[in-house]
Amino acid sequence: MKTCNTCNETKELTEFHKESNNKDGLRNQCKECRKIYMRNRRLRDIEKFRAKDKQWRKKYAAKRKAYMDKYRKENEAKFVYYTSIRRRLMTVDQRCECCTNKALNEFYRMRPEGHHVDHIQPLSKGGMHCLSNLQYLTAAENLSKGDKVTK
Ligand SMILES: [Zn+2]
Ligand SMILES: [Zn+2]
Repeated sequence: MKTCNTCNETKELTEFHKESNNKDGLRNQCKECRKIYMRNRRLRDIEKFRAKDKQWRKKYAAKRKAYMDKYRKENEAKFVYYTSIRRRLMTVDQRCECCTNKALNEFYRMRPEGHHVDHIQPLSKGGMHCLSNLQYLTAAENLSKGDKVTK
């Protein structure tokens, strides 16, 4: 017989797990108490893991927000540029009937790096928002062009 150091009950030796480091070759804690101990430890680990996961999520969200803020700031000029065109197109009836929105958007999307989409005949001069009136210009070319008609 052996007394468990946790529940203080005296039990049969078969109620204890083997533990070669102990003098009698058995754990000082009975199987029943060991089971409860292990279950609690597992629960504690899960809790710890959840807390860590939450922390990670929070950190990740903050990082992502910082990235988006930075991206928005760096591209603000571009955003303003395109939203102003879009707004103008909403109010002015200069939208051609031959090009689909998809084709026009594709043209904007495919512009080479550092280029703007330019209306050859400017919208302010009555030019149409049509693929046949669109071209790629670098930002510098676009600025120097102003509202002059090229081509
Ligand atoms: Zn016990
Ligand atoms: Zn068109």
